[in-house]
Amino acid sequence: MDALLKELSKLETLTAQHPGKNKTPSISDSLDDLIATLQSAKADVNSIDEGSWNSLAQTIEARKKDIDDRQKEIYSATAKLGKAVEKKFPANLPSYPNLFESDPAIAALERTIALHLLRTGQFDTAHTFLEESNADIPLELRSQFIELYRILKALRNEDIGPALLWARRHRAFLQSRGSPLEFYLHRSQYIRLFLTSHPPNPLLAISYAQAELTPFFHDHRAEFQRLLTCVIYPPSELENSPYADMASPSLHLELEPLFAKEYCASLGMSRQVPLRVVADIGGGGALAKIEKCRRVLRERKNEWIQRDELPIEINLPPENRYHSIFTCPVSKEQSTEHNPPMMMLCGHVVAKDSLQKLAKSSGRVKCPYCPTESLSSAAIQVHF
Ligand SMILES: [Zn+2]
Repeated sequence: MDALLKELSKLETLTAQHPGKNKTPSISDSLDDLIATLQSAKADVNSIDEGSWNSLAQTIEARKKDIDDRQKEIYSATAKLGKAVEKKFPANLPSYPNLFESDPAIAALERTIALHLLRTGQFDTAHTFLEESNADIPLELRSQFIELYRILKALRNEDIGPALLWARRHRAFLQSRGSPLEFYLHRSQYIRLFLTSHPPNPLLAISYAQAELTPFFHDHRAEFQRLLTCVIYPPSELENSPYADMASPSLHLELEPLFAKEYCASLGMSRQVPLRVVADIGGGGALAKIEKCRRVLRERKNEWIQRDELPIEINLPPENRYHSIFTCPVSKEQSTEHNPPMMMLCGHVVAKDSLQKLAKSSGRVKCPYCPTESLSSAAIQVHF
């Protein structure tokens, strides 16, 4: 992998907008230089003598050569990178039948890409994509993403104002989700006031707390008490005190993802960006495992015909586990829509099929895990 990264970094240096000192100028620098020379020649066109014309022609030739040379270097670096990639990944990428042939599938894909670009703040690319594809994202939704990025940018610049305004306007929604966003915004401001006052003056933070934090006392009592007591330390000592977490930059940095999550939720969108999840899971090893499994099955002349289930287990990081799976402790089978988990009166859960098998003709079931006996009809379905 090292060789590959080395080639990539060479290419990046070559194509960088402003390469370091003593390097040949980048293509855009050479072009800018050329344009500036031509513009100044144009301004003095009446007073240019023959000598100046000659030197102008020489400058143009020299810049052209710079650009050609640089172009050649870039081509050669690209070719080397290509070779390094081929050497590192000798196996051909698997090919799959095109899943996006029908109109609804193409429309769904285009919409997903457009939303991805908007959600990740790549507005120029999104704009071009929307122009060149058939995807249709309402203008209102587009401007909502622009607003999201405006607010996130303000947060990055330590300005909680726009985020707070949004949080106040959506207070009922945030409360219905039990979101601490508004409190955390104030907390960030409170700590910032305390840490940045010169000379140290805890009263600034305390009067901010009196004005803004009081309504959050009931929901965040413990945190509230810590916030008010941490100011007994001088700001410079906070990071060595029992309140060191209050001095951590993460207290402010975590506001951005939290805000983006709540904002997207208010638009009815998931916490994670779908295309990124797909790429993370696929690129994180799942695709390679599935491909290997397909190859093994093919070699054994077995066909993988099950459509809704993978024949192998793929471990996912906790943030990508969306649905809990119930495996019946009696039959060892995974629950399905037709064989859902059922909870008996004692609180133990088995699959519906197992429950029916365990039931006597009287309808009574003896729990396999405790002495309780109950009616199978009293068991209720459990939803994961
Ligand atoms: Zn039981």
